[in-house]
Amino acid sequence: YPHLSKLVVLFTVSGGGLLAYADASPIGGPQGIVPAEAGNKKKRVVVLGTGWAGTSFLKNLENPDYNVQVVSPRNYFAFTPLLPSVTCGTVEARSIVEPIRNIVRKKNMDIRYWEAECFKIDAQNKKIYCRSTNNLNGKKEFIVEYDYLIVAMGARSNTFNIPGVEENCKFLKEVEDAQEIRRGVIDCFEKASLPNLSDEERKKILHFVVVGGGPTGVEFAAELHDFVNEDIVKLYPRVQELVKITLLEAADHILGMFDKRITEFAERKFKRDGIDVRTGSMVVKVSDKEIATKERSGEVSSIPYGMAVWSTGIGTRPVIRDFMQQIGQAKRRALATDEWLRVEGTDSIYALGDCATINQRKVMEDISAIFSKADKDNSGTLTAKEAREVISDICERYPQVELYLKNKKLSDIVDLLKESKKDVEKESIELNIEEFKSALSEVDSQMKNLPATAQVAAQQGAYLADCFNRMEECEKNPEGPLRFRGTGRHRFRPFRYKHFGQFAPLGGEQTAAQLPWDWVSIGHSSQWLWYSVYASKQVSWRTRTLVISDWTRRFIFGRDSSRI
Ligand code: FAD
Repeated sequence: YPHLSKLVVLFTVSGGGLLAYADASPIGGPQGIVPAEAGNKKKRVVVLGTGWAGTSFLKNLENPDYNVQVVSPRNYFAFTPLLPSVTCGTVEARSIVEPIRNIVRKKNMDIRYWEAECFKIDAQNKKIYCRSTNNLNGKKEFIVEYDYLIVAMGARSNTFNIPGVEENCKFLKEVEDAQEIRRGVIDCFEKASLPNLSDEERKKILHFVVVGGGPTGVEFAAELHDFVNEDIVKLYPRVQELVKITLLEAADHILGMFDKRITEFAERKFKRDGIDVRTGSMVVKVSDKEIATKERSGEVSSIPYGMAVWSTGIGTRPVIRDFMQQIGQAKRRALATDEWLRVEGTDSIYALGDCATINQRKVMEDISAIFSKADKDNSGTLTAKEAREVISDICERYPQVELYLKNKKLSDIVDLLKESKKDVEKESIELNIEEFKSALSEVDSQMKNLPATAQVAAQQGAYLADCFNRMEECEKNPEGPLRFRGTGRHRFRPFRYKHFGQFAPLGGEQTAAQLPWDWVSIGHSSQWLWYSVYASKQVSWRTRTLVISDWTRRFIFGRDSSRI
């Protein structure tokens, strides 16, 4: 039907819930059209994203009564904590990815996957608009209808709109980024080894600048240092003296979210290793040759570089920003959800992982309600004991408060809230509820949202899958475990995050670990803990075996420095 080839044609496949419109291809081809599933009355769940949150949801979904469609431009799950190891070949890229089809195949459920990106969410009509990512016969666009939408699209690297970053820096977010960095590092060494270059030129080429002193930037700098010192020096002995690694951080310290002991250890170690850590140094512009920074003193300096890696946190994906505008959340960085991970202002859309955040305003409203409830005699005062109970209740309900308060004993917190009353241990004092509230709002202003980590995303995915597994049963038996909720009651317990600690690998087979109960461990023993945890957390036995064999290969033969 060549005469129809320029038309936009809408196909509706009733049972599968997928509508497809092809803009430049003949009708009748299989592109974009999913065969109808006659008589399929199951609720349609559409999952956007195959990262930590989306994959965890899919892995934990047990109820076969859903028709699940997964849309993601990546047909695999990537174990992101090992991405810095991919940049230098400690671990191979293919060892940390698992095809999503392999993961869902084992479920024996009604799950289909489309390799495409969603470019528009139409919450009113319960549809999403998608575009295939492969270019076979042009990119196909199609529409998927849903009953429930799970938004787990993650985030993108944040450039803060600093001029030149996008064009000149490398990012470390996706597997392709890590592979590109790996090639880029080898490129720099080969370039610097060419004849007829001055030492100044070679130095510039071998100057690696990492922007961002968070866990990813620090780990990459440490990996690069190990790679250069353990492997590269043997292959490029003439240029080894000219290599320099600089780490730029705008705040006063690197690894700001870690315990002070870890921060100090990391800074000392990097100094010993010859990594130039420049804190209080804010990047204002990046050209193809130089990075302009503004120091705390106001002085602007220029740093010539060979390769720059940008790792300064995350920003909102355009499709999420558009959706946020639609539902009146335009001013936020991430989609605001309630404690049940449902996007505020919608009734069947859930958001989890890096693209979502639990709404803080609602949290404060609930906290006020908890205060009032605790003040049983309406006296306007709470005893220290009651105050502690209130705080436990808040911490249980709101993990981000617990995270903020994690290093403080409850008695210290009461002290913190009411510093003037030093006899707080005697339980004899009474706290004025208004003072108490205002003190807690100070805590609130310092209180951080849940960190954007794989740990949070995976727990949210598992939590939501559990809700979906029991959704039907709960609808039939609504008297189940009902819980407090601002506007009424909810059939599921709210999401609660359990923090199991975090690692910061610092190179030289040393890792810093910050574990629950304020336990800090730094050194070689933590490196072994890191190996065990990361091996055990692999998504499949296949990747576990590959990762462990990569580590073994690296111990025996070193890293491969071929530029392929
Ligand atoms: P992602 O895992 O990023 O997944 C997002 C998914 O959405 C992807 O499949 C993507 O392809 C898909 N997607 C994107 N756009 C669209 C679209 N338009 N339509 C449909 N799908 C789309 N966390 C830790 O806890 N510990 C660590 O050690 C750690 N190390 C890290 C190291 C690096 C280098 C990086 C980059 C991150 C690290 N993190 C770590 C953070 C962790 O990776 C993220 O918090 C986590 O990936 C968030 O999960 P997510 O599912 O929200 O997003």
